[in-house]
This record gives sequence, C-alpha cells and structure tokens, in this order.
Amino acid sequence: MDKKMQNSSVTLKAKIKKKVKNKNKKDPCEVCDTNLYYNTDFSRRIGLLDEDCNILGWMCPECGSEFTENNELTKLKLEYDGIEGQA
Ligand SMILES: [Zn+2]
Repeated sequence: MDKKMQNSSVTLKAKIKKKVKNKNKKDPCEVCDTNLYYNTDFSRRIGLLDEDCNILGWMCPECGSEFTENNELTKLKLEYDGIEGQA
C-alpha cells in the first residue's frame, strides 16, 4: 500500500470518530439513500482530501456523489441513470 494514502486514511478515521459519537446509527446518503453508518468508530463515507491531506468532504461509495464536511451536495452523480451534474 502507498504510504501517503495510509497516513491520510488514519487522519480521516480519527476525525470521523469524533463526529459520529453525537450521531444516531442512521447516516443515509441524501442522493441514493444508502445507509453510510458502519459502526461507532467508522463511517462508510469515502474521504476527499487535497494535496496537503486536508479534508475537503466525502463521497458516497454507492452512487459517487460528493459532499462537503457539512453534508452539502457538491457533485451529483447518478451512474445508474447516466446523469451527471453540478448542484
Ligand atoms: Zn449515495
């Protein structure tokens, strides 16, 4: 595994852990309604990082839509419909 990728992953998990503690066990994607809750420590969300490993937001592993850290939709991607657009 790429060493840089591994480090980013650890940082992201630490941040998500802090946020998830105040949430209930449902964490649905607003686009495809997939439940992104995994357990108390981790989310199924895919973190989006810039070159300096700052967290820009997250991506749904099911439909590929992208969101900011505040769950604002930034990129709508519905592959099963063949539609892609900006929110
Ligand atoms: Zn989704």
